[in-house]
Amino acid sequence: MNARETAIQAYLKRFSELPRYVARAPGRVNLLGEHVDYNDGFVLPAAIDRATYVAFSPASTDLSTLVAADFSEEAQFTPETLPGKVQPDDSLLPEWALYPAGVAWSLGAADLSTPAMQAAFSSDIPRGSGLSSSASIELAFGVAWSTLGGWILPPMQLALLGQKAENRYVGVNCGIMDQFASACGELERLLLLDCRSLEYRSLPLPEDTLIVVADTSVRRKLSSGGYNERRAACEEAVRLLSKDLPGIKALRDVSVESFNRLSYQLPSLVEKRARHIVEEIERTRQAIPLLEQGQTRAFGQLMNACHTSLRDYYEVSTPELDTMVEIAQDLPGCLGARLTGAGFGGCTVNLVVGDRAGAFARSLGPEYERRTGLHPEIYICQASRGAGLL
Ligand code: ADP
Ligand code: MG
Repeated sequence: MNARETAIQAYLKRFSELPRYVARAPGRVNLLGEHVDYNDGFVLPAAIDRATYVAFSPASTDLSTLVAADFSEEAQFTPETLPGKVQPDDSLLPEWALYPAGVAWSLGAADLSTPAMQAAFSSDIPRGSGLSSSASIELAFGVAWSTLGGWILPPMQLALLGQKAENRYVGVNCGIMDQFASACGELERLLLLDCRSLEYRSLPLPEDTLIVVADTSVRRKLSSGGYNERRAACEEAVRLLSKDLPGIKALRDVSVESFNRLSYQLPSLVEKRARHIVEEIERTRQAIPLLEQGQTRAFGQLMNACHTSLRDYYEVSTPELDTMVEIAQDLPGCLGARLTGAGFGGCTVNLVVGDRAGAFARSLGPEYERRTGLHPEIYICQASRGAGLL
C-alpha cells in the first residue's frame, strides 16, 4: 500500500468515514549549496516524488485528532492546549505531533484560521535521513489548514510559517531550504533560492540525467552539537573578518579572493569551516550558468568538489557517506556524487546519466553492502511539484 492509501485507510479505520480531502507535500534533495542557507548563500534543491499525505476533514468540535499511521499512534489538541504542547488529558504531545501542532500554532499566531480537523497521515520519505520528512509534514498540514480555513498564502509564506513551527515550536534550528523546496517544488525542475532575499526561480534539470538518492541507512546521529558548532564557527569568522571587511553580514559577503587574503588571521578550525562556506557559495554561483547552458559534466564536478569540501573542511561526513560517494563516483554514468543534507549520516545525492541510472542503482547498493555490511536504500527520484491538495 502506498503512503496515500495508508493515510486514507488509517483515516477510515479511525473515523469510520472517508476523508473529505487529501493534501500532499514532498520531501526534497539538495544538489548544491550545503550548509550555506544559514550563511545567506544560494541553494539548489529539488522536491522529490516521495511525500507525506494527510487525509483530513473538519472536526465538529474544537478538538483536533491526528493519527500518525506509520506509528499507529494518535494525538489530540485544542486551541487551549496548543501553546503548552500538551493534550487535553495533560499528557505531553508526542514528538511527531509537534510538527503538525507547531504549524497550527504558527498559523494561528499569524492570524490565519485553523479550524479543528480530524486527520491521518503517512509518508514514504525516510525519517531523519536528510530528505526532509519534517518539512513535508509541516507543509502537508499547512495545505490542510489552508483548505479548512479558506485562506490562501503564497507558497513561500506557507514555507516560512512551517519553518517558524520547526524553529520555535519543535525547537529545531533549521534554515528555510527544506520548507521552501517542499512548498515551491516544480515538476522536472531544480529550484534556486537566494537564502538572503528569499527570491527564487527554477532551473532546468540537466538533460538526460536522473537524480539517484542513496540512503546509507545510518541515521543521523544526534548532531545538534555538531550543527551548532558549525554555525558558531561561521559567525566567528564573520566577526573576525569584519575587521578588514567592514559591513559584511554573513560569509555570503566574502569573496574567495578576500577570504584567501585574510584567512591567515582565523583560528585553523574556524578557517576550515568558513572556507567550505565561501567556496561552496562560489560553486553555486558557478553552477547557475552551467545549468542554464546544459553543461552537465561541469555541474557534476561541482557536486564532487562539494563532497570533498564537506568531508575535509566542514567535517560533516562519515565513513559510510564517504564510502557511498567513492563507489558512486567510480561507476559508469555518474556525473556527480556527494552527501546531501546536514551530514553526520543520512543520504548521498547522485546525478547520473539517464539510461545508466538503473545499472548504477543496481551496482551501488550491493557494493556498499559488501564494503560496510549495511543495507542501503537506493531511490531513483523525479523532481516533483510542491505541496498541494490532491
Ligand atoms: P528529516 O531529515 O527527515 O526531516 P528530522 O529529524 O528533521 O529528519 O525529522 C524527523 C522527524 O519527523 C521524526 O523524528 C518524526 O518526529 C517526524 N516524522 C517524520 N516522518 C514521519 C512519519 N511518517 N510519521 C510521523 N512522524 C514523522
Ligand atoms: Mg527535517
